[in-house]
Amino acid sequence: MSTRWIFTVAEMMSFVTEVRSQTKTLALVPTMGALHEGHLSLVRQARIQCDVVVVSIFVNPAQFGPTEDFARYPRNPEKDFELLESAKVHAVLAPPVEEVFPAGFSTFVDPGHIATVWEGAQRPGHFRGVATVVLRLFNIVRPDVAFFGQKDFQQVVIIRRLVEDLNLPVRIMVCPVVREADGLARSSRSVYLSAEDRRAAVLLSRSLKRAEGLAQSGEADAEKLLEEMRRMFAAEPRLQLDYAAIVDPATLEPVTHALPGSVALVAARLGQVRLIDNLIFGPPGSSAEMKLQLALTAPQPDKESAATPRPEIDSLRLKIENCRDCAALSSISLPAREFLFKYLKRDYPNLDVIRVLVIGGCAPMGPSDSPYRHPEQPNPFSTRLYELLGVRDFAEFKASFALTDAARCHAVGNRVEERTLEYCAKHLREELKLFPNVQTIVILGEYAYLQFQRHILGRERTSIKAFPELLKAEGWAQESVQLPCYGERDVRLLYCYHPTFENKRSPSVAAYLSSKP
Ligand code: AMP
Repeated sequence: MSTRWIFTVAEMMSFVTEVRSQTKTLALVPTMGALHEGHLSLVRQARIQCDVVVVSIFVNPAQFGPTEDFARYPRNPEKDFELLESAKVHAVLAPPVEEVFPAGFSTFVDPGHIATVWEGAQRPGHFRGVATVVLRLFNIVRPDVAFFGQKDFQQVVIIRRLVEDLNLPVRIMVCPVVREADGLARSSRSVYLSAEDRRAAVLLSRSLKRAEGLAQSGEADAEKLLEEMRRMFAAEPRLQLDYAAIVDPATLEPVTHALPGSVALVAARLGQVRLIDNLIFGPPGSSAEMKLQLALTAPQPDKESAATPRPEIDSLRLKIENCRDCAALSSISLPAREFLFKYLKRDYPNLDVIRVLVIGGCAPMGPSDSPYRHPEQPNPFSTRLYELLGVRDFAEFKASFALTDAARCHAVGNRVEERTLEYCAKHLREELKLFPNVQTIVILGEYAYLQFQRHILGRERTSIKAFPELLKAEGWAQESVQLPCYGERDVRLLYCYHPTFENKRSPSVAAYLSSKP
């Protein structure tokens, strides 16, 4: 496979049309080039999660202020291309400025208050430029998933807000900060540091680590942690601190107490070079991914949930949020909370009347395959699912069925970790409680079957029949069980092959579903 180098919007759009016609999933990694390991970590994640990966390289003039370093920003197209080719990226979009901002361009996105604090206060207009170019790139590339780095934490918050507020059909994935051996966050700008400044630059990450260490040993007072950080900066004359702050990860407002999930932000100048860094507080020993999940699943000031309070959903949300390990494990699949809030709640205003639940044990082929994402555009997963269940389209599907992906786990491959299944099952048990009237549960595929048998029905592994043996020639099987979460009431279980992975191996179960148990 050779990497395609694309310079025009028109050519990019025709590349995307070609990819879309093959129902492949598409990832976008927006960058400004001068690539390093930080960027490449995003590219690798994108390669794992999607069929086709597009990286954009565009030094965006709209996000630089008049006195900033637009002209001096490092550019290294030959090396970038080499790196992206070895990373097996499918296409690189490297448009000149006039392709992205042609004459007459006049529409800009204003991300609001959140873009006026911290980096926004230091760099007025910066996030207006970022949000505008990112929206334009999303519209050109139409990715299923876009990858951003935690390194620019405020940018992540703003992009997630943009996607939420404007209903953009893209999932945002965030990857942890990649650092040099001494802790300095990798950055394109650090090539301009003199040897002495490079040595001093480590203070950014060191001060963050120090604050984390203090927090982990019991000092939660944000002001005390900040005092310590400022003290460290005061002792290094090469560095001029722009700000140090400890903030709520959703609102970016300063917090008085640093909690797991709070974020410490820091920005400082070394001569002409400006560096930023951040750290998410987490329990001792927690991984970077787990901390990211803690920060990104923190409750948002969410219009929707404020408008329709549902105490049981709120308590479920809390439980799911508190299940940190699970949140970390579900980093690729849509987290259960997000799924419940955005999809089930939107499509099923009254979760109590649902009669049949369909549980998928592994994700559809990609995020865009979820029938809830683009209900008007059937894809291989939804088409086969509807066929299996004997409905014509999404409207008919949602009238009788709810599809929960609580059983979904992101570990795809021959072996799914037992721990992963256990954690997913924890969510599933909670989610089942949201559907108190369920009479029938359809379970798609082997993972969901195994998980249901082991962790919901509590059966011993040795007593669980192998999936093909259970399904035999019919391609489906059913049994009636008592589920503790329904107060021991009988529920009919129907097992069949996963409609996408084992395509066409299960005949329609519609007839059995319409016969009352
Ligand atoms: P930039 O080219 O600086 O605009 O960065 C492009 C993307 O790479 C952004 O989403 C950044 O957050 C991400 N990125 C930059 N540096 C790092 C790093 N050290 N670790 C992880 N991601 C990074």
